[in-house]
Amino acid sequence: MKAYAQPIKKLISELGKLPGIGEKTAARLANYILRSTEDDVIKLAESIVEVKKKIRLCRVCLNLTEEDTCYICSDASRDKETICVVEDPDALAAIEESGGYRGTYHVLHGALAPLDGIGPDNLRLGELVRRIDEGQVKEIIVATNTNVQGESTALLLTRMFKEKNIKLTRIAMGMP
Ligand code: ZN
Repeated sequence: MKAYAQPIKKLISELGKLPGIGEKTAARLANYILRSTEDDVIKLAESIVEVKKKIRLCRVCLNLTEEDTCYICSDASRDKETICVVEDPDALAAIEESGGYRGTYHVLHGALAPLDGIGPDNLRLGELVRRIDEGQVKEIIVATNTNVQGESTALLLTRMFKEKNIKLTRIAMGMP
C-alpha cells in the first residue's frame, strides 16, 4: 500500500474491513471508485449512510425496517399464529421471495456458536419468548441453517418451547 496517496490508502483500509474483501480486492474497488464519476460516488456514499440512519429493527420480529414495525408485521392478512424463526434478515428475504408463506417471522440475528463465544444471550431470544407468552402463537417453524450452528440453535429452541403448548416444525435453510 506504500505507493498509494494517503486518501487512497485510507479508502483501501476501510473497504478492507468489509467481509470477504482482502487488500487486493479493496485496492481494485478503490481504483474503480476513483474512475467513477463524482455523481456515482456520492450516490454510493449516501446510500451507505442512509441505510445506517434510516434502517432499524422491527419492534415485533426484529426484521430490518424503516418503520416502527415492518411491512410483514403490520400486514393484517398475515397469520400471526405462526412464527418462522430465522437467523438473519437474508434468510427472511429468501423465504419471502420464494412466496407462499403467510405467517410472521422472528429474526434471531445470529446462531449459537460456542467456539466463537456466541451463546443464547447473544441471540434475540427474549423478544421471541415474550411474543409466545402473549399467547397468540400456535406454531413455530424453525428455519435456521442446516450447519452445526443452525442445528444447535434449532435444538435450543426445541428445548425452550417444549413445555409450551406450541407445535414446533423444523425446516432446512441454506447449505449444510
Ligand atoms: Zn416485523
